[in-house]
Amino acid sequence: MSDCIFCKIIEGSIPSKKVLENDDIIAFHDINPAAPVHVLVVPKVHIESLEALNEQNIDVVVKIHQAILQVAKIMKINSKGYRVIANCGKEGGQTVPHLHYHVLGGTCLNEKLI
Ligand code: AMP
Ligand code: ZN
Repeated sequence: MSDCIFCKIIEGSIPSKKVLENDDIIAFHDINPAAPVHVLVVPKVHIESLEALNEQNIDVVVKIHQAILQVAKIMKINSKGYRVIANCGKEGGQTVPHLHYHVLGGTCLNEKLI
């Protein structure tokens, strides 16, 4: 997708502070962190949101979760705990229409979700 910020990060035309990259996934620091650790875990394939998952592309969810576990280890938040958020659609607060999971940690997060 030529006008997608995250596709541009994946192809390298927009810089990012990478935490992890493999054939399927890229993970990088959020430009506007909401916690001391705030990493975005993004599939390389352009999928608009959770609502665009289907039988053909659902396998990527396993890859995303494997990457989340690796990111938590790399960022040394795996034992203390962290939060994973995937905003979906307008009312879900999604601003970038390319599926991504926020990994937040490095502090004691509020128990309230919103
Ligand atoms: P969401 O609101 O769930 O769609 O999250 C999009 C996230 O992408 C926000 O937390 C933004 O701060 C982050 N973001 C937008 N542009 C960039 C960028 N160029 N590099 C890193 N993070 C970004
Ligand atoms: Zn994209």
